[in-house]
Amino acid sequence: MGTDWLVLIIAIAVVAVLAVAGLVTTAVRRKPRDLPPSTPDVVAPPAPSDTVEAPEAPAEVEPETPGAPAEPRLEQPEKVGSRLQRLRARLAGSSGLGKGLLGLLSRDQLDEDTWESIEDLLIGADLGVAPTQELVDGLRTRLRVEGSSAKPREVLREELIKLVGPDMDRGLRVSGEGDAPGVVLVVGVNGTGKTTTVGKLARILVAEERRTVLGAADTFRAAAAEQLSTWGERVGVEVVRGPEGTDPASVAFDAVKEGIDQSVDTVIVDTAGRLQNKAGLMDELGKVKRVIEKQTPVTEVLLILDATTGQNGLVQAKVFSEVVDVTGIALTKLDGSAKGGIVVAVQRQLGVPVKLVGLGEGPDDLAPFEPAAFVDALLGGS
Ligand code: GDP
Repeated sequence: MGTDWLVLIIAIAVVAVLAVAGLVTTAVRRKPRDLPPSTPDVVAPPAPSDTVEAPEAPAEVEPETPGAPAEPRLEQPEKVGSRLQRLRARLAGSSGLGKGLLGLLSRDQLDEDTWESIEDLLIGADLGVAPTQELVDGLRTRLRVEGSSAKPREVLREELIKLVGPDMDRGLRVSGEGDAPGVVLVVGVNGTGKTTTVGKLARILVAEERRTVLGAADTFRAAAAEQLSTWGERVGVEVVRGPEGTDPASVAFDAVKEGIDQSVDTVIVDTAGRLQNKAGLMDELGKVKRVIEKQTPVTEVLLILDATTGQNGLVQAKVFSEVVDVTGIALTKLDGSAKGGIVVAVQRQLGVPVKLVGLGEGPDDLAPFEPAAFVDALLGGS
């Protein structure tokens, strides 16, 4: 009995010792094996994340790269000259309009039905009633007078260019008087592509070797300041921003002050486009402008308009033009839109030229607007 107890106690003791030893070794083994994911992954250098824009970058691992040199790999934006040529094909939707018109005008018999179809096409492209009538009248007269010698394509090209307004001053006022920077105040409804256009415009200025500061005065949308900072970082442009919800006017003031202190050429100020009501908008934008102008004049008020929004966009444009003195229009999302006629409609509505067109989501898909190049793109071919 006594020995049985002894054997039992010894057996229990042995099992206990083995169990403890086992636990310890697993624990010891587990430590290095469980922790490694952080250590070795951070060390492992050649993660193929060179593609900066890869959407699913391993966000948790990236920030741990401790002493990474964080060199600013600045991008070289495309020069301005060739942009509209490069982007011609993006007017694919609208060039359907050009082809449709040419097809109709090239018919042997231009009867009333054909003219009606031409009008329908133009109205459908958001040209507006009065400009459509004007264009159709011009075409009818010329084709009648010139008879069989008229080349429909040439006649249409000339009449369209005339309608778009080849003589309007489309230069963006990005320079100030004397040493003062030019100040571009960018306004428009949220979602039209305002912040994107500010970023793209900064790239145009960088391509022209103009020193630029951006002001993120759209303080109601935290993402807007973030978005703008990314645009700025990519091309080495400083972005002045404030905490979310800061008074937009104070950010605008600071941005312009920074621009003056740094002797830059241009300050571009992004604003919030909340169309809650006209009085509120007027208060807000009016204040932003007034506060900027305590330091130096605003040289350009650029209204951003989404080409795909048609009549709605025109109504918004009108509200903004009543609130601030708009001096230029940037028409965004003209790529793939069949609504090229809005160029003419909005110019008529506001009496202000379209100065820039957005033709894609790429960083350099913004081009100065040139009537002849635009019409050529619409008509396709030469
Ligand atoms: P905001 O709210 O007015 O500042 O608008 P954002 O700048 O954030 O742009 C809204 C969306 O429109 C984004 O997805 C942009 O990429 C897109 N966008 C802006 N401009 C263009 C353009 O010219 N073409 C196309 N296709 N998309 C554009």
